[in-house]
Amino acid sequence: MKKLLVIGCGGVASVAIQKCCQNSETFPKICIASRTRAKCDALAEKLAGKTKTKITTAQVDADSVGETVELIRRVKPDAVLNVALPYQDLTIMDACLKCGVDYIDTANYEPEDTGDPAWREQYEKRIAEKGFSAYFDYSWQWAYQKKFEEAGLTALLGTGFDPGVTSVFVSYAKKHYFDRIDTVDILDCNGGDHGYPFATNFNPEINLREVSAPGSYWEDGRWIEIPAMSVKRKYDFPEVGKKDMYLLHHEEIEALAEHYPEIRRVRFFMTFGKSYLTHMKCLENVGMLSTEPIEFAGRKIVPIQFLKALLPDPASLGPRTVGKTNIGCVMSGMKDGKQKTIFIYNVCDHQACYRELGSQAISYTTGVPAMIGTALVMSGVWKKPGVFTTDEFDPDPYMDMLNRWGLPWVVDESPETVE
Ligand code: NDP
Repeated sequence: MKKLLVIGCGGVASVAIQKCCQNSETFPKICIASRTRAKCDALAEKLAGKTKTKITTAQVDADSVGETVELIRRVKPDAVLNVALPYQDLTIMDACLKCGVDYIDTANYEPEDTGDPAWREQYEKRIAEKGFSAYFDYSWQWAYQKKFEEAGLTALLGTGFDPGVTSVFVSYAKKHYFDRIDTVDILDCNGGDHGYPFATNFNPEINLREVSAPGSYWEDGRWIEIPAMSVKRKYDFPEVGKKDMYLLHHEEIEALAEHYPEIRRVRFFMTFGKSYLTHMKCLENVGMLSTEPIEFAGRKIVPIQFLKALLPDPASLGPRTVGKTNIGCVMSGMKDGKQKTIFIYNVCDHQACYRELGSQAISYTTGVPAMIGTALVMSGVWKKPGVFTTDEFDPDPYMDMLNRWGLPWVVDESPETVE
């Protein structure tokens, strides 16, 4: 009987775990482990009697390789799904290697302490070599390629929606719709309203770091970086309507540029309302988004972590969020000598997600693909030795599972394009 160890028990984990429990054939046994065990126990209690999956819980500080190794040795899972924070990616990968188990996550590594001199040295080198300055990139995890290959283990990186599903949309388009893809615009629209003046839809610290950073995109073999929020477009999203969207740096651009050299340009856009942008700018201007520790009342605090404590917990937004998300990829290229453009997207309704699992659509659209990627690795369908992103496997089984497990997709063959 296969066993999965899930590390983390926040908004995304709650969806991923509940979806695993709907899919008990693939996930007969799960251990939920996190820093705060009470959250794992509360979820296990919520699921008791509603699933055939046998659930156990544990406490772990996944910043410690030793503690994580000890947990894996005790639980003896076939794979570990990391839905804690990107800060823990490398420690959990190290622990998986030591214990000989497969690894899956939803977001690429970034350090908690961006002032760490050893990390900073490599970061400065990467900015100089590659030309984008986001705190997160794939280099740290791609460096594990040989170790996973030699151990005969699979590491599947970034199986959320974006990254994750969006990269599968690209490989699916390449397989079924194009001889050559020239441009990809990844569009992430959240048309939901939670009624708060300001809140983030997933972990505030990770979210605000991402959206306040300079934007960047890949064009003609190089990165082009732009000031944060300086490129704005309008798009009429099916089932959501017209929204302003802004060009951001995003991790799947890096993987697609590496694995699909034929693609001339890859951009990522996310929609933001006026209130969100005004609050974010103000918080940034007063220093609240800083990741550098400061002295306060005799102790060190990190401003963005303090801000996180003040903001609503994303997991609590479910009951009050109404509206829909629309996330997908507009792709142009050639098929049989003719120019072609398609938009593959999913629409997800916040309230429908809440009715099904008690979560809003951002956690839902991330947690479902986390379950799907894990299921494909554990069942051997997406199993090969090494470190991979979701664009490096056959997309068909993943696309079938999206339809089956709550994220149906649409292919529009005459979509609006992005200027
Ligand atoms: P939350 O903050 O809601 O949950 C994080 C969980 O990880 C909490 O249970 C937290 O424990 C636990 N955790 C944090 N540090 C440790 C540690 N050292 N050891 C063990 N457990 C720890 O985050 P989300 O659920 O919103 O996000 C989870 C992941 O999903 C993030 O990596 C995020 O970047 C990613 N994500 C990916 C997306 C995609 O589309 N690819 C989209 C959205 C998110 P505690 O309860 O004690 O705080």
